[in-house]
Amino acid sequence: MTQPRLAALIVAGGSGSRAGGPLPKQYRPVGGMAVIAHAFDALNGLPTWIVAGAGHDAMLADALGDRAPVGRVIGGATRRLSVRAGLEAIAAAGGADQVLIHDAARPFLPAAVIERLTTALVSNDGAVPVLPVVDTMVRTEGGLFGDVVPREGLVRVQTPQAFRFAAILAAHRGWRQDAEPTDDAQVARAAGLRVVAVQGDAMLDKLTHDADLAAAEARLGAALVSRTGSGFDVHVFEPGDHVMLCGLRIPHDAGLKGHSDADVGLHAITDAVLGAIGDGDIGSHFPPSDPRWRGEESGQFLRHAAGLVRAAGGVIDHVDCTIICEAPRIGPHRDAMRARVADLLEMPVTRISIKATTTERLGFTGRGEGMAAQAIATVRTPA
Ligand code: MG
Repeated sequence: MTQPRLAALIVAGGSGSRAGGPLPKQYRPVGGMAVIAHAFDALNGLPTWIVAGAGHDAMLADALGDRAPVGRVIGGATRRLSVRAGLEAIAAAGGADQVLIHDAARPFLPAAVIERLTTALVSNDGAVPVLPVVDTMVRTEGGLFGDVVPREGLVRVQTPQAFRFAAILAAHRGWRQDAEPTDDAQVARAAGLRVVAVQGDAMLDKLTHDADLAAAEARLGAALVSRTGSGFDVHVFEPGDHVMLCGLRIPHDAGLKGHSDADVGLHAITDAVLGAIGDGDIGSHFPPSDPRWRGEESGQFLRHAAGLVRAAGGVIDHVDCTIICEAPRIGPHRDAMRARVADLLEMPVTRISIKATTTERLGFTGRGEGMAAQAIATVRTPA
């Protein structure tokens, strides 16, 4: 039997705020990544469509970085209309056998939940992750305690909700227009579809309040382990009129010899970042034997290393670099260098340190034969 074609639809339509207000929750960062980017990554490579609010283009692009959904769809006035628009876009692109309809504000989706949902779809039209209600439920009126609502049979409903694609598309097309469903399972039920409950996961709870985001941040932070990496680099002087140092062109009475632009500072920092994630060194990623890197700007090496940290689910916390030479003087350029490195690493400048020292005229740096740099990077990555 061939595997059913499974597609995913992330609904990010909610504004959560008025224009000019705070960034809607789905675009806010948790653990260094936007909430919706976590949701996208958790879908683990499934062909994914995203429905976002009108005017969210820039926020969405920012949040997704280089993640590429199959399609982006502009949401409707209600959640139901947004889902409908997304389903129609999937249908227009050739359809699917099954679809997961997921809220962008539920960033942490265990693979086991997806597995339970698709397994349930083998013999049902729809499947929904749920959790039991553990607290006592009581009706209140005007702040006064009323009757206890029996918990028996009550569950908390999560997403993604999984459906046979053709069935949920038909159900949405046939929905009576005079009421709004709270979720897609209701649309499915109204169309007579058989929807079953599968076990959900507390990780899947929706991030609704600011405190939820803070709690998620703390949980992710606790799951990351801090590591440090060191880097060291040397380049020899040759005739020239400037050196490249931490991405800046600095006039000097000599140049630095190297295959790339010989930026000794950026090379040391790049090696420190790679060291912290145990991923080789600058030479293994950008071999000097490869003519592509001749005369190239070293900023791209550092950007690449930072991308590897992000791809590993990590965050760079701090970088400290010491440049070792008698000349040129580093002090006047220090702040511009920090700003340039912060820009390359997409980090606040307050977490970048650039220092300089001479070697009291001792050794090769003391004799002005070349420059050296050493760096240390602190990175947090999943354990
Ligand atoms: Mg080098």
